[in-house]
Amino acid sequence: MKTDLRSLTLDELQSEMINIGEAKFRAKQIYRWLHVKYADSFDEMTDLSASLREKLSDNYTIGTLKQVKKLVSKEDNTTKYLFELENNYIIESVFMQYSYGNTVCISTQAGCRMGCSFCASTLDGVEKSLEPSEMLSQIYNIEKDKGENISHVVLMGSGEPLDNYDNVIKFIKILNSKEGKNMGQRHITLSTCGLINKMYDLAGEGLQITLAVSLHAPNDAVRNAIMPISKANPMDKLMEACRNYTEKTKRRVTFEYALIKGVNDSADNAKELASRLKGMLCHVNLIPINDVKERNYVRSTNETIKHFEDILVSRGIETTVRRKLGSDIDAACGQLRKRYKDEMQ
Ligand code: SAH
Repeated sequence: MKTDLRSLTLDELQSEMINIGEAKFRAKQIYRWLHVKYADSFDEMTDLSASLREKLSDNYTIGTLKQVKKLVSKEDNTTKYLFELENNYIIESVFMQYSYGNTVCISTQAGCRMGCSFCASTLDGVEKSLEPSEMLSQIYNIEKDKGENISHVVLMGSGEPLDNYDNVIKFIKILNSKEGKNMGQRHITLSTCGLINKMYDLAGEGLQITLAVSLHAPNDAVRNAIMPISKANPMDKLMEACRNYTEKTKRRVTFEYALIKGVNDSADNAKELASRLKGMLCHVNLIPINDVKERNYVRSTNETIKHFEDILVSRGIETTVRRKLGSDIDAACGQLRKRYKDEMQ
């Protein structure tokens, strides 16, 4: 198989060029084409000689994605994209406009094997862990399509980023590299269902990215019922891993908590959550859950959400309720992809 140049760091690209007898500075030129100008073919690299372009295309590929569907919200310009990879695998990405800048939510795997009961991405398991180029291309394609700069990225599409650890770290390094898109680490948020061992690894990487942890429960009993990974990753140890992340990085951890009617949204749940998080450098993001028809899960009422928020805030826990964007094109997390796949079968 040919090496995909878009998945290489600049250092790796330099070694590659030296290996094929080219000058080292060529690597910077090519890297710029791949990560600043978003070239999808060697033909576009017009400042390289025709013979070098031919040599490159004989020996290498460039990871690209094919856009197969796009839905634009008339309310707020939120845009959902479906991209196709090899073997007809489908991934979903979302463009969102916030006051602080344009954000893209990317997928890190096609499907997911974590099995959270409220999530549509995991219903058919994992099909593929994405290469760095396939994660980068989601951002590059959307930036080209929208004609606007993307300043923030969240790893909250389908897949568990820490279950595709090496590729995700490489992706972050390439995205952050000053010779590439140069996106600030603090503009990158990685969301995990809480794989404790990998959270320690991540804390040791010396990165300044924001860590978001999908908590969704105040204790192991509630969490075990909706998140199978919770059994091997219990809350006490999870909290320790979060504290370690904060100590190592000095960064505040975000806890995501999707409110499901009658499952995790009682006043007692809120009080227990508050006492668990007391004293931690953290932030809670309450998410009105997207209904999952396969599971009979229903979103908590607005009153319940407000009450839950009030309890946390009154106990000193910084809390926000996630604003819903693009409700006219709403297809819950991973459900657009799921529907598309079902239709194609
Ligand atoms: N695997 C990672 C990242 C992908 S999921 C993780 O678990 O964090 C991104 C976020 O969407 C997670 O917080 C996840 O729990 C949440 N999510 C999944 N299904 C949802 C739904 N139906 N409604 C609201 N949030 C959902």
